[in-house]
Amino acid sequence: MFFYFEIIKYIMPTIFCNLKQIQTRIREAEQTYQRDENSVKLLAVSKTKPASFIVSAYQAGQRHFGENYVQEALDKQLELGAFDITWHFIGAIQSNKTKVIAAHFDWVHCVDSFKIAQRLSSQRPDFLPPLNICVQVNISDEESKSGISLEELTDLILQISELPNLCLRGVMAIPAPQIDFFAQREPYQKLVSAVKKLKNENLTTFSFGMSDDLEAAIAEGSTCVRIGTALFGGRN
Ligand SMILES: *Cc1c(COP(=O)(O)O)cnc(C)c1O
Repeated sequence: MFFYFEIIKYIMPTIFCNLKQIQTRIREAEQTYQRDENSVKLLAVSKTKPASFIVSAYQAGQRHFGENYVQEALDKQLELGAFDITWHFIGAIQSNKTKVIAAHFDWVHCVDSFKIAQRLSSQRPDFLPPLNICVQVNISDEESKSGISLEELTDLILQISELPNLCLRGVMAIPAPQIDFFAQREPYQKLVSAVKKLKNENLTTFSFGMSDDLEAAIAEGSTCVRIGTALFGGRN
């Protein structure tokens, strides 16, 4: 208990300041790149961090949290049952985990196959609203196995639109890290222009941008930046 309160005492003000700083970065980027005010939402990525960190961000007004690992997320959800949190699953999805994910999350960002989408839809409990889905697109990171190609996007979107218990909201991407601002923007620009060509009015969520490239992401049309390190500190 002693340790717990010591941690709270030091971590809480830090998370509060970090959150204010990130919000300022988002609002400034919206202005700089002629985006509508408040058109970019912040998803707080709390993977590997304790529930007490989530409480600190919550007390500063944050409501949307993203987790990557199913069991870790369930533990925190149990601990934080009394809080009005919207939970996003942003990790790689194994097919043997779809049932738990479908029952315990409001959003899933990394859908990259029809098989996974089908399972999430059929396993979504009836008493819950449709599960919000983003399709993960692999735009630049050839090394990574996750995400579909831009060529596959049209078909997968049409297929997913037929599933009764899913609500297709948009696309998600994790490009290969780049330092140069223009290099950071390029894959996002490619993705957004490809999505706009589909003229599918349900695709309004652009889930991209992390601690190191949120300005580039906002410049290219992100509506949801997923921030971990800048908010909660580094991870091992
Ligand atoms: C960890 C993670 C983030 C947060 O990344 P930071 O660089 O720590 O801000 C965002 N999106 C996904 C999918 C992640 O796994």
